[in-house]
Amino acid sequence: MTEALTIEGLVPRLAAIAGRENVITDPLELRTYECDGLTSHRAVPALVVLPATAEETAAIVALCAAAGVPFVARGSGTGLSGGALPREDGVLIVMSRMRRIIEIDPVSRRAVVEPGVTNLSVSKAAAPYGLFYAPDPSSQVICSVGGNVAENSGGAHCLKHGFTVHHVTGLEIVTPSGELTWLGDGTGVVSGYDLVGAFIGSEGTLGIATKIVVKLTPLPEAVHTLLAAYPTMAAGGAAVSGIIAAGIVPAAIEMMDALSIEAAEAAVACGYPEGAGAVLIVELDGPASEVEAEVGCVRSLCMKAGATEIRAADDAARRAAIWAGRKSAFAAVGRISPSFIVQDGVVPRTALGAVLGRIASLSADAGIRVANVFHAGDGNLHPLVLYDDGSSAEAEAAEVLSGAILDTCIEYGGSITGEHGVGVDKSRYMPKMFDADDLDTMQLVRCAFDPASLCNPGKVFPTPRLCGEVPGARRGTHPAVAAGQAELFLWFTERAVVLPSARLARPCALRGASSLGARGASPPGAGGASAARPSRRASAARRPGGVPPARHVYGTCAARHVRGASPTRRVPSFPRRTSPSAHHTYQATHSSRRTPPSPPHPYQWPQGP
Ligand SMILES: Cc1cc2nc3c(=O)[nH]c(=O)nc-3n(C[C@H](O)[C@H](O)[C@H](O)COP(=O)(O)OP(=O)(O)OC[C@H]3O[C@@H](n4cnc5c(N)ncnc54)[C@H](O)[C@@H]3O)c2cc1C
Repeated sequence: MTEALTIEGLVPRLAAIAGRENVITDPLELRTYECDGLTSHRAVPALVVLPATAEETAAIVALCAAAGVPFVARGSGTGLSGGALPREDGVLIVMSRMRRIIEIDPVSRRAVVEPGVTNLSVSKAAAPYGLFYAPDPSSQVICSVGGNVAENSGGAHCLKHGFTVHHVTGLEIVTPSGELTWLGDGTGVVSGYDLVGAFIGSEGTLGIATKIVVKLTPLPEAVHTLLAAYPTMAAGGAAVSGIIAAGIVPAAIEMMDALSIEAAEAAVACGYPEGAGAVLIVELDGPASEVEAEVGCVRSLCMKAGATEIRAADDAARRAAIWAGRKSAFAAVGRISPSFIVQDGVVPRTALGAVLGRIASLSADAGIRVANVFHAGDGNLHPLVLYDDGSSAEAEAAEVLSGAILDTCIEYGGSITGEHGVGVDKSRYMPKMFDADDLDTMQLVRCAFDPASLCNPGKVFPTPRLCGEVPGARRGTHPAVAAGQAELFLWFTERAVVLPSARLARPCALRGASSLGARGASPPGAGGASAARPSRRASAARRPGGVPPARHVYGTCAARHVRGASPTRRVPSFPRRTSPSAHHTYQATHSSRRTPPSPPHPYQWPQGP
């Protein structure tokens, strides 16, 4: 068994699980996986394995756990914070072979998908039923739903429709010890700990999602897109405030500045109004009569804020033409700069003008251009910091400027990430946003899932710190336990770990932790950053500018139990269909075995009444 403790010794065992052709050991092939969308961080994994099933994934993780080898899940590798950065001494588990859409149930408006399926293909599969999957990251053609779950991904339309966390109702996961189990029952209603909520946005540090139950949303009856041009960003910002103040919640409000318009024009000839200092894209969707009324209202608010030109589109082709520039904006910047950093920060919407002004002066002081493309409706900025990577001095200055932008977001009561996550890139900023107690509390949650710290180690948390990055369960009595604010739990492993009690989890601690940007903090449509929930950090409340609004995190963990749930859970419980052949109630078996050799297939799809 000594052999199994080395990476080389894992190869034949992994091959026995997934097939030799799905275990990559060739150094050149391994380089394919050395980074995600954040190419400034690279590490060649020791091994790559591509499982085809949940059971294979569980067996692979169990093997890594037994061997004490770190492992990292990877979806499509489009992440922008280095979340899927491999470990040179570890195994990269690539989920791209698991891309089945297992079931679409139009009656309960749910789909069950494997994690490697791409975001857009869920909507394509649901379209014949008049449904779609609402979270729409700009990378939706390629990014995986598993990656979306890990990052709690958003997109342009999340202002109204919500984030991944609002659209996932159940998860089959492999725990870091290799156990296949379910979180949530597919209904989206849970008593006790909201473990689905805890898992979503945990950036691959709590386990690997192997099946995902998602909500499907009816396609809107009408969609109308407006493009308004402004001489300045401030004028565009005034239009955003006016629209929200009027009580209208558009599906999307996006803004681009002059530099990003220039880049988009160079890349896709989007034909946005010449000489505009800013363009605003406002999309309204819903019942036709409602959209019609709102379009008139938005149009006049845009004019009132000083729009120099307004274009409108209500058919798919013309709407796509309006979106072309915005959708291509990140890549387009490559046309006007050899290299650039995609930053992701959040500020309360009310602070947008001030923060954009500060970014402009930071940019001028550093002599480095910054293009701004952002989700204006919920204060999620994506400053693109342009630099020449041929000059190390310029690269360093760009990095410093990028950090200064995040400092500004925090200063104004915002967050270090809105939707791209903390990953490896922003873990160093975590102590700026969270104090030691907060970080410690988040670690407790992480340790409850992964006391050995083998699951995507080195991400999210500044390292090394406390139990999360020091292998093994926390030693000694945790101060939170001593203070009566946390309880001891046994879960997944036989080791004792502490999990914060309800008193600790609410109101002050867990929401707003880790991958914790601001987008998605509030229910969809509630106004993003400026309407973040009261469950925020007490320490942050003392900071000038207020508390950072929270997006997702290690949770909405309420108190109560995790182990000892009924061994057979209904996952999920769909309403009965009227058609006899389509009456589904499907069940998943919750296995408490550590490494189930051949667990029963989690779904049974009984046919007929
Ligand atoms: C051009 C471009 C535009 C983008 N636009 C947006 C946008 O609009 N909104 C947005 O939110 N993001 C956006 N992103 C970022 C990125 O696409 C998202 O974060 C996406 O969710 C990552 O999915 P992925 O499959 O590529 O995941 P990966 O990059 O492979 O992994 C991301 C994280 O998920 C973990 N992970 C992957 N699969 C699993 C699994 N099955 N179980 C557990 N953990 C897992 C990984 O360990 C890693 O931590 C954009 C990226 C690019 C390149």
